[in-house]
Amino acid sequence: MKPLVALIGRTNVGKSTLFNRLTRQSRALVDDQPGVTRDRLYGDVTWEDHAFLLIDTGGFGDTEDALSSRVRQQAELAAGEADLVLFMVDGRQEIQPDDLEVAQYLRRSGKPVLLVINKIDGPKQETRLPEFYRFGLTPLFPISAQHGLGVGSLLDAVVRYL
Ligand code: GDP
Ligand code: MG
Repeated sequence: MKPLVALIGRTNVGKSTLFNRLTRQSRALVDDQPGVTRDRLYGDVTWEDHAFLLIDTGGFGDTEDALSSRVRQQAELAAGEADLVLFMVDGRQEIQPDDLEVAQYLRRSGKPVLLVINKIDGPKQETRLPEFYRFGLTPLFPISAQHGLGVGSLLDAVVRYL
């Protein structure tokens, strides 16, 4: 069985954009509309002799479902099924209370968690990075899923856990 790596994070942070970039498949839907990716999608990733299965989750924070149930569902999925969790937040947005709640749950689950700060497309966004130390998950992995910046460093770290 290949190791499982789960992408967790609120809707619209860019999970599916990263999934599509890494799997080079268009199996995950990317859309500006929150809540588009409803179901989990699995894709194969290979990086320097390491193969793993990436799980793109639907995300939490969409309005249709009770927030607490979505948070719990995502966190439980990650804790239960994955060997490693990539917890993604939007580097252009303020930290939300339920982001902190999920981070706390993941820290306590004992699973390895990497904090991925997405949408860091250039120096302008980098200035906001220190804020994200609040999650208590270090080091931070700033990336631009859209442009590919930082993705290699993230994958180097991922395969060290597998
Ligand atoms: P998901 O709901 O977490 O799966 O998010 P999506 O992958 O569907 O992306 C949500 C929106 O964020 C889309 O409009 C993407 O084009 C945009 N997006 C994703 N990654 C980046 C990035 O690195 N930089 C910027 N500026 N936008 C991004
Ligand atoms: Mg998605």
